Amino acid sequence: MTTAAIITAAGRGLRAGGDLPKQWQMLAGQPVVAHALAAFAGMPRVLTVHPDDQALAEALRLDIKIVPGGATRSASVKNALEALAGQGISKVLIHDGARPMVSAAVIARVIEALDQAAGAAPALPVSDALWRGADGRVTGTQDRSGLYRAQTPQGFRYDAILAAHRAHPGDAADDVAVARAAGLDVTIVAGDEDNLKLTFPDDFARAEAILRGRRMDLRVGNGFDVHAFCDGDGVWLCGVKVPHGKALLGHSDADVGMHALTDAIYGALAEGDIGRHFPPSDPQWKGAESHIFLRHAMRLARAKGFELANCDVTLICERPKVGPHAEAMRAALAAILQVDLERVSVKATTSERLGFTGREEGIAAMATAALVRT
Ligand code: MG
Repeated sequence: MTTAAIITAAGRGLRAGGDLPKQWQMLAGQPVVAHALAAFAGMPRVLTVHPDDQALAEALRLDIKIVPGGATRSASVKNALEALAGQGISKVLIHDGARPMVSAAVIARVIEALDQAAGAAPALPVSDALWRGADGRVTGTQDRSGLYRAQTPQGFRYDAILAAHRAHPGDAADDVAVARAAGLDVTIVAGDEDNLKLTFPDDFARAEAILRGRRMDLRVGNGFDVHAFCDGDGVWLCGVKVPHGKALLGHSDADVGMHALTDAIYGALAEGDIGRHFPPSDPQWKGAESHIFLRHAMRLARAKGFELANCDVTLICERPKVGPHAEAMRAALAAILQVDLERVSVKATTSERLGFTGREEGIAAMATAALVRT
């Protein structure tokens, strides 16, 4: 039960503008047709190309069979179907090379439907009102009920569609038309609005935006810090002074939670840690308030095109009790980071009286920050 894919790229469509046919123009760093081919990775793939584009197809350096297109789209597909003969192919998906954003879900729906039908293809019901028009004026309306916008891949049992193409004279709108002319049943499966066919120059900008959204660039960093107790009357934790019989010893205000969070953000950016940006050897940072460090890390993140998706700080100590102050800490951090409160978590745990935190020699903090490219 092998499913193969045929990607049609032999057309010369130049309505999209530019010097190259639309399927060979660049989209998000690679030719449109390369995106379409990638969607069918793992299947035997046949690419139909115009003779003028042979070098472009070879330059893709993909494990695909390149087949010359014919005089019509149907002739190109027939050539590709013939090229798959004798390879044990049971199902074939025929996809327009100018549809670079077909999803795995649409492909799976088509393949699955072929267990029950000789043909299956994705489509979307027409939701806009339909008009007839001439010379820029509406001349009539058209009932849209029962109308669909056809997409690809159009899938078929291989033997049936090969026979249909061999028997079909001349060109056809698509392979569903060829199949139906041969009496094959074609099932409609749900299409996808993003599975657009690049036709006009504006379509490229829309496609770029969709692809950018799909390639979410997420960076995660962690931070860990420890400060020892010393004499004092309170500890700074996540921007809040919590009354306590001791203070925390440190080069700055020793806000162990804020230090861990700052290092988590630097870590997500692969930008080292606080010590790299604010060397302890530099006297100007002696006693500096920790919000300076955190603000710097967040500014750096934004300068590099990232926004904070969320952060989570865990304070580890027996005392002072953090719970009553946790909401104030969240609010303080959110204000410094300039993000919504819901993106900031502060919680605490003890170490069951074990280790240095259990012996109340100091406080440890760990933090995670997730940054997302905007
Ligand atoms: Mg520290």
